[in-house]
Amino acid sequence: MTAAGDRLGPTLFERSRPGRGGGKIPHPPKDALSRIPADHLRTDGPHLPEVAEPELTRHYVNLSQLNYALDTGFYPLGSCTMKFNPKVNEWAARLPGFADLHPFAPDELAQGTLQLLWELEQALAEIGGMRAVTLQPAAGAQGELTGILMVRAYHRARGDFGRTEVLVPDSAHGTNPATASMAGFRTIEIPAAADGGIDLDGFRAHLGPTTAAVMITNPSTLGLFESRIGELLEAVHAAGALAYMDGANLNAIMGRFKPGEAGFDLMHINVHKTFSTPHGGGGPGAGPVGVGEKLLPFLPWPRVLREPDGTFRTERPGERPQSIGRMRAFAGSTGVLVRAYAYIRAHGAAGLREVSDDAVLAANYLKARLAGVLDIPFSRHCMHEFVASGATLKAQTGIRTLDVAKRLIDYGYHPPTIYFPLTVEEALLIEPTETEALETLDAFVAALRAIVDEAHNDPELLHSAPHSSPVRRLDETTAARQPNLRWRGMTGEQTPCPD
Ligand SMILES: *Cc1c(COP(=O)(O)O)cnc(C)c1O
Repeated sequence: MTAAGDRLGPTLFERSRPGRGGGKIPHPPKDALSRIPADHLRTDGPHLPEVAEPELTRHYVNLSQLNYALDTGFYPLGSCTMKFNPKVNEWAARLPGFADLHPFAPDELAQGTLQLLWELEQALAEIGGMRAVTLQPAAGAQGELTGILMVRAYHRARGDFGRTEVLVPDSAHGTNPATASMAGFRTIEIPAAADGGIDLDGFRAHLGPTTAAVMITNPSTLGLFESRIGELLEAVHAAGALAYMDGANLNAIMGRFKPGEAGFDLMHINVHKTFSTPHGGGGPGAGPVGVGEKLLPFLPWPRVLREPDGTFRTERPGERPQSIGRMRAFAGSTGVLVRAYAYIRAHGAAGLREVSDDAVLAANYLKARLAGVLDIPFSRHCMHEFVASGATLKAQTGIRTLDVAKRLIDYGYHPPTIYFPLTVEEALLIEPTETEALETLDAFVAALRAIVDEAHNDPELLHSAPHSSPVRRLDETTAARQPNLRWRGMTGEQTPCPD
């Protein structure tokens, strides 16, 4: 057994005893069974575990406490903006007027929600410097697809069918090339310049009549602000292509840089990264897309409109014939959008700018403090995240970034993103976010320092880390490719996850 105690103890199936029951639940009406058509009735009962309610509750609560969460500790996962989200936004999202609204409710009965969605669109458009926003996409990746489908519709509407390529820097998030392929384009990867930024000449060499769009992440996934963005956007537009901005890193630039004003034609915003919503558990997100003038006709249908009398309605079928159509059922992930609205209204313009300033300050502080501990490949000021590298440590001790990350778990931290971006050897992508206290950042530095010392003095300790977690070092490839999630009966001393 490990520090997890018996939390990984017997499964509910193993605890099951015939006839043991759960809580008291309301009895169904006497004729319930006879009301179900005979061919819909099952012939034998479900094989469910039979346990008492306390056993059931403890089982799941104990399992839930094995989760590492922002509510339990520091979570410096780069490229993800795992920041603490104010609980008041959870309260807002649960207000019955929002939470209980039927998705098919007619507009007259949904005025409050429609108003919130409309106002959120206005706020996001203002923040991004865009003309309008669609709130439909379910996450950043679907926002990208929405955006690139609009790009395709735009070129086709002009009768230009020759634009078959999308240019993407090689540091891009994997969703960028995946999006371009899904939308039917060929992705061309442009290697970064030596300073980690956009290679202007590399882009220029590929820009032309076959370019549909470039997709740029700014600040980049290296945490660097693209200083040559103005020149790049000029070249993109001169070639007749559109400029897509991956806005996943908006947490670094709010109130300082408006992509639309800088010349980007469209961008997605990961509201679950920038504007509150617990994120990382695979739950719902939202990836609104903002567009400039050129793409307005192509926005997904239906949009929320405000009438001259101040009421709100959704677009009627066929009202905007050039729309790319629906990207998601109903109005999008409304609960997530309520959280974003609450976050934006609570902070206001000045507050959002402060969020970004603090995120950048925290990242630069950590980067400076880690300078003597790990390699820092790009010395210029970072934005909300930065890349460190364990290349020297590996050369000196044989300890890899993976070992460091696993050992951080023993020290009580969620590891940062590792081996991404792919362009940096033994990379750690570290994002502290604006919500962490100075003492937390200092303690994280101390932990990394201690681990580097261990790498020199007791490397075996790191090779076999983590030592305190319920499961130890997994074979990551097998765990990902052939996950074994099947329950099977076990007896005696066996546990589902032996040390
Ligand atoms: C997170 C992220 C995405 C994808 O967004 P999801 O909301 O996870 O689908 C795209 N690009 C970058 C740079 C990201 O960090």
